Amino acid sequence: MSLGIGLVGLGAIARAQHLPALDRVTGVHLAALASRNATLPGLPCYPDVDALLAAQPDVGAISLCTPPQGRFEQAMAVLRAGRHLMLEKPPGATLSEVETLRAEAAHRGLTLFATWHSRAAAGVDAARNWLTGQSLRKVMIDWREDVRKWHPGQDWIWQAGGLGVFDPGINALSILTAVLHDPVRIIRADLQVPKGRQTPIAAQLEMRAADVAIHADFDWRKTGEELWRIRFETADGSATLDQGGARFAIDGQVQPIAESAEYARLYERFRDLVARGESDADFTPLRLVADAFMNGRLHQVAPFDEAADG
Ligand code: NAP
Repeated sequence: MSLGIGLVGLGAIARAQHLPALDRVTGVHLAALASRNATLPGLPCYPDVDALLAAQPDVGAISLCTPPQGRFEQAMAVLRAGRHLMLEKPPGATLSEVETLRAEAAHRGLTLFATWHSRAAAGVDAARNWLTGQSLRKVMIDWREDVRKWHPGQDWIWQAGGLGVFDPGINALSILTAVLHDPVRIIRADLQVPKGRQTPIAAQLEMRAADVAIHADFDWRKTGEELWRIRFETADGSATLDQGGARFAIDGQVQPIAESAEYARLYERFRDLVARGESDADFTPLRLVADAFMNGRLHQVAPFDEAADG
């Protein structure tokens, strides 16, 4: 039987990725929507998740596509109503709240799927396989994009819990922690926070996994073509994940891999986790971001005005 999904929050990612994926993946279907502002034709629509849960007891699962701040209350309402739960990345605004969700889901025997869409990019498995048996020396991450292009009008990214440039940067950390075999730790973090904002517009991280040095550069001030790249240097050569994990090259040779279908893979996995009665909730990337905020050096930089030219 197909799993009915209630979608909550019809913003940029819900429209661009969740709706098409729900259309495409067999065994799941869009059953209802909760949105403060929008409706979809032919679909039961509610102003918030509580109204959806109350009116639609047959909707077995909820997918939250809202900003991380405030998502905890929505998530707890879902679990307390006995529904399976899928979370957009980052899974929450704090580590303590996501651990609470994990415990609640386990206590109720429900599936909790904390998604990391970049881990589902087509090149990530190839990179992990290639790294197995390699003597890794160094990793360099360049994650640079134009915040005006990718996050127009999103005030929440600048507010506490919104992560700032770590909103995209955590995607790189989710790939990093999926392909390396040793745990990653933060050595040093420098965070550039625009005057009057709560979150960084750029960040540089020094990390280690065993003895391997990892440097990450996250920057939201890059105009023109974006760069979402992780480069691995080993004793015998190098490899590069590009385009957020969609492209993988070994010593400059692009490897044949499938087209990326990140969100289709996420919904397939959610469907399968629910069928098997399992959860998938790895908070490692969020923990690294929390460590960067806890241990990072703050540098105040020029105010960010979204309306001004980059
Ligand atoms: P967005 O465009 O701002 O949409 C978020 C939606 O959540 C809003 O449209 C709104 O939908 C709902 N919402 C509920 N409470 C809100 C509040 N207090 N403030 C703002 N919106 C609120 O954000 P998004 O880019 O879709 O991101 C949502 C989540 O997906 C984030 O965790 C983000 O990291 C993740 N994500 C985004 C992208 C991307 O490229 N944009 C990619 C991957 C993952 P209603 O008006 O329907 O209630």
